Amino acid sequence: MALDITAAQGAMTGARYIESLRDGREVWLDGERVDDIPSHPAFSGMVNELARIYDLQHGEEFRDVMTFVSPESGNRCSMSWLLARSDEDLKRKRRNSEVWTSQSWGQLGRAPDVLAPYIISLYKAREKLSSVKHPHCDYGENVANYHRYCMENDLFLTHALGDPQVDRSEQPQNEQRAQREEDLALHVVEETLDGIIITGGKQLATAAPISNETYVSLSATFTQRSDPRFVLAFSIPTNSAGMKILCREPVSLWNGSYGHPLGVPYDEQDCMLFFENVLVPWDRVFMLYESGPLLRNFSAGINFTEWGNLCRIHERMKVMTTVATMIAEAIGVLEYREVSAKIGEMVTYTEMWAHAMDGVEHGAHMDEGGLMSLGSMTGMNIYFAQTSARMVQILREVSGSGLIMQPSENDLANPELRPYLDRYMRGKGVDAEYKSRLYRLAHDLAVSSSGMRQEVYEYWHGGDPNRNRINLLRGFDQDATRGRIEDLISRPLPHG
Ligand SMILES: Cc1cc2nc3c(=O)[nH]c(=O)nc-3n(C[C@H](O)[C@H](O)[C@H](O)COP(=O)(O)OP(=O)(O)OC[C@H]3O[C@@H](n4cnc5c(N)ncnc54)[C@H](O)[C@@H]3O)c2cc1C
Repeated sequence: MALDITAAQGAMTGARYIESLRDGREVWLDGERVDDIPSHPAFSGMVNELARIYDLQHGEEFRDVMTFVSPESGNRCSMSWLLARSDEDLKRKRRNSEVWTSQSWGQLGRAPDVLAPYIISLYKAREKLSSVKHPHCDYGENVANYHRYCMENDLFLTHALGDPQVDRSEQPQNEQRAQREEDLALHVVEETLDGIIITGGKQLATAAPISNETYVSLSATFTQRSDPRFVLAFSIPTNSAGMKILCREPVSLWNGSYGHPLGVPYDEQDCMLFFENVLVPWDRVFMLYESGPLLRNFSAGINFTEWGNLCRIHERMKVMTTVATMIAEAIGVLEYREVSAKIGEMVTYTEMWAHAMDGVEHGAHMDEGGLMSLGSMTGMNIYFAQTSARMVQILREVSGSGLIMQPSENDLANPELRPYLDRYMRGKGVDAEYKSRLYRLAHDLAVSSSGMRQEVYEYWHGGDPNRNRINLLRGFDQDATRGRIEDLISRPLPHG
């Protein structure tokens, strides 16, 4: 059986993860095929950093926080894959997500802990998925087996939902568009005894080159299609024959300097995926030709279903606020009213986020299938898309030109230059080295290509914010207030 777990070893180790990426996957970077992902300079920082965090799962300090013992296999498995059945389970998952996000400074939008919830949310919908019948498989059963397989092997998933950004002038459900997109959007070419054969492209899969598995589905924008061949969800190994991974320009390729403390170790990469007659075995298909059961899953914003994203964003907000404070201290501007008020604004967002996290925990409930879900968080991804941009802006305003004018490590090491740097580039009570390292961190949050990629990510990663706002409005219950307003404006006007 393809999803057999008899050889599974449970929670990933760093060494196992690094080796797992040497599997012949087809990754393209700057016109060339990458031979060895773990040792390539565009990926090695990120791969080593993930390996380090995976190893924490086995160490004394975090083992009990980051793993649990699988009752079926006896393996220690990552807490990211735990199916929560109680309030206490939800708290355990929160603590695990806090470790993942604090260890990676809130920089990894698609860390393993963020992707596992996608499969868990499918698992919760398994009965609905099974309600659509196909002679070759039971979709709900496939999802349950797949969850178990990922959990027992602690696999790292990437995911790809959108159609290629070629022509958005017609809605995906238009028949005309479907005909034109035969050569474009991912679709089923044929069914065989082994599975479906698929061809087409996908716009954006973060972390694809460093993942074990590629989960493919449709975003809310693309679920309704006139041609059912375009409706599909599945997961395949990232080294599947016929799948090409095209990387964007890396933000990690900086040489020998402390100058990019976030860009170098946390470049998770973003990729286009091209599929050419790729086989998806039947036991890896989760949805085919009929999107109804999955559609209901989208209302909550599928990537905001568990702690991973919430904790990450909280960490990022805390880091940005503290860096802004330290910069203001380092140049002696913290006591100015305007500067303090701006950083106070950052604290407002950070505090609001913490309250919202407590709110979704408070609103947790037992689902029909006996699994716990956090309370509604539909507005939160939009809130963060807005506040993240504002926080970057404030960091820039507080920091001034020091954001771009700092000496490099080699400048500081040069004895001819050093006296000038010590004199003209020091800060208030801090030396030139401390100040430049702090500022370079701020630069990596608010200016560098890594920082800017991150900001673009924060805006788009929950899907189109405008679409999300519209969906939020449509699902917002206004009946009670509307009734009171109608009553108010229908009463006779008072006579003065
Ligand atoms: C850094 C980064 C990482 C990402 N990682 C992932 C990932 O791992 N997996 C994944 O699946 N996706 C990922 N995404 C994709 C993300 O989900 C999309 O960017 C988002 O859904 C918007 O789609 P788009 O980029 O194709 O923009 P478009 O849909 O092309 O939008 C461009 C503009 O056109 C407008 N527009 C488009 N269609 C319409 C319409 N019908 N009516 C009115 N206005 C319209 C939009 O509002 C927007 O202003 C990532 C994106 C970024 C930037």
